[in-house]
Amino acid sequence: MLNRAKLVLLGSMVAACAKTAQAPAAAAPVPVAAASEAPATGEAQIRLAPPDSDVVAMVSRLELDKYKATIKGLTAFGDRRQGTKRNRDAVDWIEAQLKNYGCANVERITYDYQPPPRRVADSTAQLRTRAAARNPTLGQGGSKMRGVRARTGVDTNRLHQTDSTLRELNSEPTTPGQRQEVYCTKVGSAHPNEMYIVGGHMDGHGWGEAANDDGSGTALVMELARIFSSPDIVTDRSIRFALWNNEETGLNGARAYVAQRQALQGIENPKGSGRYPEPKWLGMIQHDMMMFDHGMPNPDGTMRKEQRAEADVNIEFQMQSKMAAESMKLAFAFRDANERYATDYPAAVGPHMTNTDSGPFMDIIPAISLRENERGMHVGAGWDPQWHQVTDVYTTYIDADFRLGLNAAQTTLSGVAQLTGAVLKKP
Ligand SMILES: [Zn+2]
Repeated sequence: MLNRAKLVLLGSMVAACAKTAQAPAAAAPVPVAAASEAPATGEAQIRLAPPDSDVVAMVSRLELDKYKATIKGLTAFGDRRQGTKRNRDAVDWIEAQLKNYGCANVERITYDYQPPPRRVADSTAQLRTRAAARNPTLGQGGSKMRGVRARTGVDTNRLHQTDSTLRELNSEPTTPGQRQEVYCTKVGSAHPNEMYIVGGHMDGHGWGEAANDDGSGTALVMELARIFSSPDIVTDRSIRFALWNNEETGLNGARAYVAQRQALQGIENPKGSGRYPEPKWLGMIQHDMMMFDHGMPNPDGTMRKEQRAEADVNIEFQMQSKMAAESMKLAFAFRDANERYATDYPAAVGPHMTNTDSGPFMDIIPAISLRENERGMHVGAGWDPQWHQVTDVYTTYIDADFRLGLNAAQTTLSGVAQLTGAVLKKP
């Protein structure tokens, strides 16, 4: 179990080398035999490590129709804007689903959210605008934007929503005050005191249904909670499934989690019970906007209707974080998991993770985000025309879009399964 997890952490290169070492040719006295097969570089025998049959079986439990149905369920609460009844109703609904899946220890975090004074927000925006004016290619997270760009922003005009039922559903304004967010846990059998955190944010805005941002990431986390909660799956280490609130206001839900629970890590409570309300954090994997990879905007500002043929899952870490080296390792472990277990789309790793709930974790533990595109240089340049707009509704997306989200789910499920030593109990 541990060996397998270590193997994956070291990535496909090492895995492939280990395989080579066991091959008969490599057992020969010195490199002569190997050299004859790989005269130039000695790379001839490097190949992908074979998939684990248990992990393949777990991944096969992810179904496109179920993933779509969970996204559809979330869109029933409109844009789920924080500080409204529709947001609280969505938290209740998510909690009911997690309980239904049999996910253990379904719990809530309660915190207070007060929006910052207007003028602070304005001056930050002005600074950003000035920096962007000096260097128009400057993207968020340290990225650089290239090529055709389209306008981005948050639609705050209710009249842009032509669906009157949805407009009505989204009409209650946000008010400051108490907020809640929900999480549940797969408890590890050998090391219940250590865990990976898998997250997505359930709040949205923009007068649509927040179907992609971030119904797609929320549904992914819920689907993983459902599958890992199956009684025939056993993991060595724990996995926490977190559905953050208040992401859109500045990652406030994830920040509240870190503030309230960082100091509780690894503490057995009650003493001698074998229970760890906050297992030690081993890594944080965030999911935010999973479905739309239709490429760069066309020069006339329009967008192609089909998923681009080169669509991929973008795994990002932040190179300027304190845990950059460990996070990069985690990112490549997930890229490796994608290569071995995802059915349709590849994954790419980038160093500019930004603007999502993995941020508050990135100086404490290894942290990565999975997305449809890189947040800084792609989404920030207008690659997702539905982003924070009235058009981010369930009916906007085609099956190829939903399938990209499903491939991200396959990536995280297999990545986390290997890191936590997941196996199927034989009947
Ligand atoms: Zn988002």
